[in-house]
Amino acid sequence: MLHPDQAAEVQSDVIEWRRHLHRNPELLYDVHQTAGFVAEKLATFGCDLIETGIGKTGVVAIIKGSLGEGPVVGLRADLDALPILENSGKPWTSNFPGKSHSCGHDGHTAMLLGAARHLAETRRFRGAVAVIFQPAEEGGAGALAMVEDGLMEKFKIEQVYGMHNEPKLPIGHFAIRKGGILASADTFEILVQGRGSHAGQPHLSIDPVVAAAHVIVGLQTVVSRETDPLQAVVITVASIHGGDTHNVIPNAVRLTGTVRTLRSDLRDFGERRLKEVAQCIATAHGATASITYDRGYPVTFNHDRETDFAVAAATSIVGPAAVCAGADPRMAAEDFSYMLEARPGAFIIIGNGDTAGLHNPAYDFNDEAIPYGISYWVSLTETVLAA
Ligand SMILES: [Zn+2]
Ligand SMILES: [Zn+2]
Repeated sequence: MLHPDQAAEVQSDVIEWRRHLHRNPELLYDVHQTAGFVAEKLATFGCDLIETGIGKTGVVAIIKGSLGEGPVVGLRADLDALPILENSGKPWTSNFPGKSHSCGHDGHTAMLLGAARHLAETRRFRGAVAVIFQPAEEGGAGALAMVEDGLMEKFKIEQVYGMHNEPKLPIGHFAIRKGGILASADTFEILVQGRGSHAGQPHLSIDPVVAAAHVIVGLQTVVSRETDPLQAVVITVASIHGGDTHNVIPNAVRLTGTVRTLRSDLRDFGERRLKEVAQCIATAHGATASITYDRGYPVTFNHDRETDFAVAAATSIVGPAAVCAGADPRMAAEDFSYMLEARPGAFIIIGNGDTAGLHNPAYDFNDEAIPYGISYWVSLTETVLAA
């Protein structure tokens, strides 16, 4: 057990690590300096094994417990920043204009390093932990790259846990739920192809503007009339492009948008119905609809038993009043979902207090969350791998 007060006392240098990472953000898989910094720190902690270059630029370290045989449990943080021009006004603002840690992955990495140091010093657990630092969470599916590179098999990982900060959730609070906690996030493009003409002679056209308008309206009933109102599904048409002027009916109109769900069967349903509705409505107007549907990150789905471990660990450090175990899901997405598809585990949300929102230029990870994050990882390890 490492209480947050103790963690704050003995781990004050983790704030310096966090601010160093914040000053030096890197994008996607190009996290060489960040991964190097992490590997260097892990080496000073006396980890039993350190491997770099997993999933291109991911880093994994193994720390063995001192209480006997047991499984290997993965604890994961993310290394990458965003292509955002920071205006937080903090003294540790990004040294690289146009790149910033606007999602707090600097904090996630620093907290997991702090936990790794404590776990390597104390080793009050069975089996082993694998601390996992992944690249390319922001749109690059770095977690999938690590899984495809054999992460789970190579280190014999049996369970895997993740954490993300959330602005407005108070410092020292945690939120989690069983089942879908974050959404799948797919994107689509619908090209409604008609035939252009003079706008004064609509009978000579197949008007893609009117057909596209009906497609947009038709898609509104897929969720409202066909899915259980208690199950979250989003189908949003977020852009329309077609035509150039007031007196010409164009040849085609392009629609783009997103489909988000909290269950994989509803994700399949959303994709199927989006295609059917768009194509049938376009056909009814004499037009055609060609659809490009790209699957993004899957649903981040928390497993029951592992969520219980996460709740127990968080409760042991902050008490039950500060742990929301039945939190509402969020319709954002996370590529930790790929690790949860590979192994059972749980993803928890940690309070970042009163800061700007994620992906906002003014955002900065709140260092006051650091002792809670470190304590959570330590407590989780000692809970899951108790003697
Ligand atoms: Zn993000
Ligand atoms: Zn993030």
